[in-house]
Amino acid sequence: MKHSRVTAPGSVAFHIFDRKGEKLRRYPHHQATFVEADTIAELAAKVGLAPEVLGHTTDTFNAACSDDVPFDPTKPDGKGTHGLDIPKSNWAARIDEPPFRAFSVTCGITFTFGGLKVNQRAQVMNTLHQPIKGLYATGDIIGLFFHNYPSFTGQTRNAVFGRLAGEGAVRDN
Ligand SMILES: Cc1cc2nc3c(=O)[nH]c(=O)nc-3n(C[C@H](O)[C@H](O)[C@H](O)COP(=O)(O)OP(=O)(O)OC[C@H]3O[C@@H](n4cnc5c(N)ncnc54)[C@H](O)[C@@H]3O)c2cc1C
Repeated sequence: MKHSRVTAPGSVAFHIFDRKGEKLRRYPHHQATFVEADTIAELAAKVGLAPEVLGHTTDTFNAACSDDVPFDPTKPDGKGTHGLDIPKSNWAARIDEPPFRAFSVTCGITFTFGGLKVNQRAQVMNTLHQPIKGLYATGDIIGLFFHNYPSFTGQTRNAVFGRLAGEGAVRDN
């Protein structure tokens, strides 16, 4: 979808659902803010998108959906699209039953994977793997995680290394 609102610098995109989307437990509509309309064109106008562009996008998506696989909102159902450059793998049900809803979304960085190397006392290490005197680090700047992470360990890392860094800095002074 080409539109200034969905590319940088606005960095905003929209998830569009029709009535069937309410059944998707992964998207609890009642907990989120959304814009609703009875037609795609009306929805586009409400969120500041060009109606013909959003209409083209939804028409293209709908044409790529098939009835080969039944829609099952309770699990990843393998009901994918056919022929789209960026395919949808599950729940590819046509967006054709009003009311239509648009949820604005943007990107966020949950973690930096990798960062400054620290030792077990939160001292930042130089390229010779020696601690740099008086320099401590904690939080996302030290990375710690690579590829993935166990849930909630980010804040655990921050608490543990934050305390070590603070203690070290006080000791140095
Ligand atoms: C959507 C999301 C969900 C997450 N969920 C979890 C979770 O469930 N469990 C978990 O453990 N972790 C989670 N995290 C990760 C966790 O929030 C971060 O790892 C953690 O907040 C990093 O802490 P930090 O102190 O390193 O950085 P930050 O919390 O980003 O703090 C950096 C601070 O520095 C300030 N700052 C930046 N530049 C300057 C400057 N030049 N001068 C002065 N101040 C400056 C910023 O304003 C900010 O307040 C989540 C992160 C995101 C984005």
